[in-house]
Amino acid sequence: MIGITILGATGSIGVSTLDVISRNRQRYRVVALTANRDAERLFEQCMVFRPDFAVLIDENSAKRFSELVKDSDLKTRLLTGPESLEEVASLDEVDYVMAAIVGAAGLLSVLAAARSGKRILLANKEALVMSGKIFLEEVRKNNAVLLPIDSEHNAIFQCMPANFSDGLEKTGVTKILLTASGGPFRETPIDQLNDVTPEQACAHPNWDMGRKISVDSATMMNKGLEVIEACWLFNTHVDMIQVVLHPQSVIHSMVQYSDGSVLAQLGNPDMRTPIAHSMAWPERMNSGVEPLNILEIARLDFTEPDFKRFPCLRLAYQAMTRGGTAPAILNAANEIAVESFLGDELPFMKIAEVIDDTLNSIESLECDSLETILDADRLAREKARQHILSATH
Ligand code: NAD
Ligand code: MG
Repeated sequence: MIGITILGATGSIGVSTLDVISRNRQRYRVVALTANRDAERLFEQCMVFRPDFAVLIDENSAKRFSELVKDSDLKTRLLTGPESLEEVASLDEVDYVMAAIVGAAGLLSVLAAARSGKRILLANKEALVMSGKIFLEEVRKNNAVLLPIDSEHNAIFQCMPANFSDGLEKTGVTKILLTASGGPFRETPIDQLNDVTPEQACAHPNWDMGRKISVDSATMMNKGLEVIEACWLFNTHVDMIQVVLHPQSVIHSMVQYSDGSVLAQLGNPDMRTPIAHSMAWPERMNSGVEPLNILEIARLDFTEPDFKRFPCLRLAYQAMTRGGTAPAILNAANEIAVESFLGDELPFMKIAEVIDDTLNSIESLECDSLETILDADRLAREKARQHILSATH
């Protein structure tokens, strides 16, 4: 049996992962489940999957969880505090770690998984965006295996030649075509974008996801983070990555080769496909996803993204080109701006402005240590909060 820890078990990716496991119970044993504060849902999941450990970050939620356990026969041990995430990501009995915490909060635990040589199923793109260089060094040094859960990167991985990590030039790959749905505001007149509400931004046309990534999809910062994620995962430069708007979300990305071939991975937009792919890899297993009905889809459209409508996408390209801590600054400013938008404090179109101002007010440093990255993250959050104050008062 393969032992698995799910970091962020109560979120959208966590729930889909447990659904895939429930269809393949003979292969996987859940060792640990973690959540921030949803004690009820975590308890329900523990009752079904009976893990050795459960982690709740919020203390009141941990108390609630303990009360629920009292009236049950559950033997799961409860841990609290952010260090417990690193603990359950490094346990000897754990083979795979699903990294599905949202944002920078997931960084240390995913690094711990790398350090202890696990197979990392990476959904938490923010961690890689922040720390690409040192993250990959830890993966290499400790013989960890890093497999992408993000649907686009999982698709690219499936279309890549086996030796891609030697550098794409040697493999005949000439371009990565990263597809994007364009989110809910792909066609909304730009002058109406300032008035959009968090509810509208979170209503994604094709994917059902957590609130933060839903807003990122609406601004297309999600695609920007994915451009950076692709550079690290596939050992290549931003110029090799072209974003293509594809509103049907049927092709999850493509790889172009020097002989004119373009390979694509297609499927229904359901995260259980990339989850099952990276859990079973190099084999295949049932994910519960309906087969794609190509006749029902009938047509596939492609257009170029408009950088005026989606300034966040441009900012992400710029940050990756600048290098060093710039992607970590971009990510931190985005997390603060999105939180503020979701709290009804910042208008939608000001998100990009806050990120741009934050990037312009902090120098990008060489990314040589975790401390440098965490300092950049802290400083960027502080600056972003100041820019939000001046943008809204
Ligand atoms: P979500 O908001 O639904 O779930 C987030 C999970 O992280 C929850 O279990 C929550 O308890 C936990 N969490 C939140 N803050 C935490 C903290 N401070 N400390 C510890 N745990 C914390 O998010 P999601 O949509 O499942 O996305 C998770 C990650 O996967 C994100 O990085 C996202 O970009 C990536 N991703 C998601 C999808 C998708 O379809 N949902 C697709 C691709 C990539
Ligand atoms: Mg994606």
